[in-house]
Amino acid sequence: MKSWGMFIDGDYHPSASGKTFPVENPKNGDVFAQVAEGEQTDVDRAVDVAHRKFAEWASLSGAERGDIMHRAADLLEKRLPELLPIEIDQIGRPLCEMRAQLARLPEWYRYFGAVARTQEGAVHPFSATHLDYTRRIPLGVVGLITPWNHPLLILTKKVAPALAAGNALVVKPSELAPITPLLLGEILAEAGVPAGIYNVVTGFGAGAGAALVNHPSIRKIDVTGGTATGKTIASLAGRNLTHVSAELGGKAAVILFPDMAVDRGVSAALFAAFIATGQTCVQGARLLVHRSIHDQVVSEMVRRTKALRLGDPRDPSTQIGPLVSEK
Ligand code: NAD
Repeated sequence: MKSWGMFIDGDYHPSASGKTFPVENPKNGDVFAQVAEGEQTDVDRAVDVAHRKFAEWASLSGAERGDIMHRAADLLEKRLPELLPIEIDQIGRPLCEMRAQLARLPEWYRYFGAVARTQEGAVHPFSATHLDYTRRIPLGVVGLITPWNHPLLILTKKVAPALAAGNALVVKPSELAPITPLLLGEILAEAGVPAGIYNVVTGFGAGAGAALVNHPSIRKIDVTGGTATGKTIASLAGRNLTHVSAELGGKAAVILFPDMAVDRGVSAALFAAFIATGQTCVQGARLLVHRSIHDQVVSEMVRRTKALRLGDPRDPSTQIGPLVSEK
């Protein structure tokens, strides 16, 4: 079994308390890693480092940050085969889903690297005697809090723009999927992101997560998670007037009309219903079907649902893996 420290200032560190927590493979309940359990002291340490190092990153030109983001994309692409089985073992999502998801990650670093490179200010008409312009500057140290169900994807959606903009980051990943976010630190460091700009404090929401949200030096919190979590975080952050962006819980409706091939509509509805074994914010939880095709859709849905292949998430033919945890 492997032990993991927190990634702070370019290296792995145990928690100040020495506490760790287990990471279980949802396929069989096997504990395959012990990870440092960060709390207040560890968050303070990570935020202080990020605060001290922030200027080093923020003072680079957009083109320089863009180059590093492009290198990060290339390195990430190379290391995807190593990250893929770890993502699967952490959360139990099938290989076919996770391979497709991870393959898209490098694009985010390339895209936001290009945005950093081409960022322009604006000159606004104001008055004949004044020149009025806007220039975007980084916020400072930002806290990124992520859920378990798309560990690297949702992290990447936050990290790529925040880094490209010149911020220093402290990440609190889901306690169910903390390992790949730690490994991303190695990749970013190799790409040239200075030590102390991407930090990861592993631990639980009520410990490390709340300490991060409450920290007075954090300029913004970006959280993806459940709605109750988002409400708690927004109310805690409000005490310091810390900016918050939140992507929270929700389920989607799938609507099928008679002007489509029933087969294709059923494929889409099945995908929406069972992606991530139904554990995702965009899950198609409700199916609204035009009455003229209702019976046909229902019988096809039933037939094809029964044919879905449940099994070992690492098996390429598996379509439905285990739920992420007993809870
Ligand atoms: P969760 O709310 O349990 O946890 C999300 C993160 O918040 C975790 O890192 C957790 O440790 C942390 N956290 C919990 N309490 C906290 C607190 N008091 N202070 C600070 N941090 C705290 O969510 P989860 O089970 O990991 O993820 C599933 C949820 O996320 C679902 O509700 C799903 O709909 C939602 N989700 C939304 C999107 C979206 O884009 N809208 C995407 C993926 C998941």
